[in-house]
Amino acid sequence: MGCVRTISYSVLINGKPTKPFEAREGLRQGDILFPFLFVMAMEYLSRLLKQLGKLSDFNFHPKCAKMNLIQLGFADDLLLFCRGDVMSVHMLFDRFQSFAKASVLVANLSNTSVYCGGVIHEVQNEIHNLLGFSKGELHIRYLGILLSTKRIFILTKKVVKVIEATCRNFLWKKDKLWVKWIHCYYGRHKNMFEDVPKQASWIVQKILKATKYFNEAGYILNEVQSMEKFSTKQFYLKLRGTFQKVAWRKLVCNNQGLPKWIFILRLAALRRLYTRDRLFKWGVTQDQFCPLCEQDHESFSHLFFTCETTAQLWKKMLNWIGVTRNPMAWEDELQWAIQDASGSTPRAEVYRMLLAVVVYHVWMERNYRVFQGKQQSIEVLARLIVQEIHFRCSMKVKIAK
Ligand SMILES: [Zn+2]
Repeated sequence: MGCVRTISYSVLINGKPTKPFEAREGLRQGDILFPFLFVMAMEYLSRLLKQLGKLSDFNFHPKCAKMNLIQLGFADDLLLFCRGDVMSVHMLFDRFQSFAKASVLVANLSNTSVYCGGVIHEVQNEIHNLLGFSKGELHIRYLGILLSTKRIFILTKKVVKVIEATCRNFLWKKDKLWVKWIHCYYGRHKNMFEDVPKQASWIVQKILKATKYFNEAGYILNEVQSMEKFSTKQFYLKLRGTFQKVAWRKLVCNNQGLPKWIFILRLAALRRLYTRDRLFKWGVTQDQFCPLCEQDHESFSHLFFTCETTAQLWKKMLNWIGVTRNPMAWEDELQWAIQDASGSTPRAEVYRMLLAVVVYHVWMERNYRVFQGKQQSIEVLARLIVQEIHFRCSMKVKIAK
């Protein structure tokens, strides 16, 4: 603990460091030394439990015996497993008490619970009397995910996606305990990928069934299993197929603007914005006039940038970044941007952002006038756009330099 107690700290107040003061105990929150010390302390518990597993009186949890698994730790959460008999629980608790005495890491009684599955009532009571922890009821929620001994719950699509992504990106590697466990318990099925074990949990079945996508992507399962390295990017590209790339992709994909600007710019490039000419065709509205100039019919081509109001704004903004030309029709503007502003120079990057933010604010202003009956002047809009670009650039150091 010498390295912990001999250091000193200094606090920066208005940019000036105060007189240093010594640290007497513990580490400050977020100290990079903390995880190492914590792991060293937990290693002691691991060794104690390893020895426990070798004793003949101790019984592993039925689903953990093949792996000799007694504990799982996630950050400062600890899960201990053993068979639900009083002797095994007593031995496990005894080891944990020894660890607590040595490390001064004590279980928080209010956050500690005992969960039993398939254990008769009398034994459960004996276990609870012995431990003194509260009785936990399955199912419980851990890290936002429901845990249960039975498949009696329905998970939302969002949780399903989180689980799938987590398993795919993190857990599904041969050296992971979780994967070893799957192989240990379900690996005895000759082909667990084609003949999915029915007793497997919901999530395991889901993962094993997902191998059908290999065929869709043109892979053969045996080949995949023998691969040393597997590229999820290549897999995704094969599954997705090839598409012709649109000419304006760099304006959207290499745009440093806010996501909401880019989203509207993409809709504009695809001509998917619901302008009044489209709404009129569908019988949604009878009013066809442009809410900005109130002179012509509103269509996409009119709004960007044939309309005199938007043309005025766009010209102002072009002048601001030193482009001295008149606003053009949307297709010509897009063509100009593809040719002159697809590069990686700061000027091109600012231009792409500017195009996105102007399209966004024109669309917002149009909606503001249609739905709220209020309006902002060109000057106010231009000032707002300049401020937003400045702020965004200051966030993106590369452009700001
Ligand atoms: Zn107009």
